[in-house]
Amino acid sequence: MSQAFDVVVVGGGAAGLAAAIEAREAGRSAVLLEKNAQLGGSTAWSIGSITATGTPHQRRRGIDDNPQDHWADMPGFAGELAARDNDALRKILCDEVPAAFQWLLDSGIRFMGPMPEPPHRKPRMHNVLPNSRAYIHHLERRAHRAGVDIRVRTRVARLLQDGGRVRGVETLDGQRFVARGGVVLAAGDFTNGADLKARFMGAQEAKVEGVNLTATGDGQKMAEALGAKILNGDLALGPELRFIAPQKETLARRLPPWRALATAMAWSLEHLPAALLRPFVMQFLTTALAPSPALFEAGALLVNRKGERFGEERGRPAWRVPDQPGKVAYIIVDGALARRFSAWPDFISTAPGVAYAYLPDYRRTRSDVYTQAPTLAALAQKLGMPPAALEESAGARLAQPPFIALGPVRSVFVHAEGGLAVDEQHRVLGAEGQPIPGLYAAGSTGQGGLLLKGHGHHLAWAFVSGRRAGRFAATSSMGA
Ligand SMILES: Cc1cc2nc3c(=O)[nH]c(=O)nc-3n(C[C@H](O)[C@H](O)[C@H](O)COP(=O)(O)OP(=O)(O)OC[C@H]3O[C@@H](n4cnc5c(N)ncnc54)[C@H](O)[C@@H]3O)c2cc1C
Repeated sequence: MSQAFDVVVVGGGAAGLAAAIEAREAGRSAVLLEKNAQLGGSTAWSIGSITATGTPHQRRRGIDDNPQDHWADMPGFAGELAARDNDALRKILCDEVPAAFQWLLDSGIRFMGPMPEPPHRKPRMHNVLPNSRAYIHHLERRAHRAGVDIRVRTRVARLLQDGGRVRGVETLDGQRFVARGGVVLAAGDFTNGADLKARFMGAQEAKVEGVNLTATGDGQKMAEALGAKILNGDLALGPELRFIAPQKETLARRLPPWRALATAMAWSLEHLPAALLRPFVMQFLTTALAPSPALFEAGALLVNRKGERFGEERGRPAWRVPDQPGKVAYIIVDGALARRFSAWPDFISTAPGVAYAYLPDYRRTRSDVYTQAPTLAALAQKLGMPPAALEESAGARLAQPPFIALGPVRSVFVHAEGGLAVDEQHRVLGAEGQPIPGLYAAGSTGQGGLLLKGHGHHLAWAFVSGRRAGRFAATSSMGA
């Protein structure tokens, strides 16, 4: 069975939704194919920060900012990798994120901020309210209003090419979608694609799961089959230690993405004392973020389920956790360390510029990953570890009661930077470096060698590149 559209979009996260909406609002027919039962992808897993200049939020605070300064500041995040960046795509990102931010506001999405994040010279980081599902909720509604045909549980398996031009896609169950103008690949990254991670990063990295288990690099692989190239496949945020997700979703994640609620929250965050808001903010910090490496520098232990240390804690412990029983570990501190990590400047986790979470915050908001006992032997018993093994691991290093275990922690990839080489119209480049006619890529799939370090640049790119790829594919369908 074959169905024809002007634009076929693969993937229903930030980039795919933006592409499909733009194509449809340009007057072309558009179908969005999503392999999961729901739209969202990594976008819905994210914290939701987006970095932009020239926003109404900046103006309200009298912050005079511009895309040129944003472009100049970004290499400060990339550090020694800066020479590998794609300067032209970075320019597009910085020039167009103000309009993309306004487009998100016009779609009903609300933000708090901006927060400072050096080396940005001005506060540019905005956080979505009440949580990142708001992006999907509001853009899905806008897509429906525009008349985008959305198909979930529809996994694209390969691209259809004819006479050198991509003409459409075929799904795993054999459906064919013909694209008169173009196919936009917006299928996310390969944080959970063991094959691509083994090839670009290494065998040990391939054992580490992505936070988003369905981010398997399908878009990159389908385009590679046509000669496309993956750039920066070796770069990723991870492996890093993260506390396991709470059994029950926190209130912060369960809040409905209604505009009225988000507007009320934005007002509260501007006007209510920080102390009142702290319990709410803590739910984000203790759910989603990594434990600080400073814990290990100060002497905290990392042990496996058998109570055994498995290497030097300060030497990239996240690389070795996947080899431990159950792929998990526990951070052990004594009373002295516990006191130290209860107040500034020694925090357990942070979202830079937003807030800091200390040990008592974990005791209050994450009792599922907080275990305390008067002796090491009692702590081991509570955790089901052999007491002698934990005592031996601690040696003389941890001496003052009480003893506290934080965990389980596991090792994860948060995002991976390996995206397809694209030109400035988001056309995927083939083996000889020339565009593959009819094929576009956006978001992580179409990252094109762009370096997105610093908070909020990944979502910024997903929205900017998605909107642009959708428009270019729509324009191409007019001439088709
Ligand atoms: C825990 C976490 C926190 C983060 N926090 C931030 C943050 O605060 N700020 C920021 O800028 N970035 C953040 N990121 C990164 C950011 O979320 C991603 O880079 C961004 O959402 C990518 O958007 P995308 O549209 O390219 O991909 P996704 O949002 O992953 O969308 C891709 C979609 O394609 C679908 N798909 C894949 N293969 C197929 C197929 N074969 N057929 C059909 N559909 C398919 C997927 O199911 C998915 O729905 C975070 C990521 C994580 C995991």
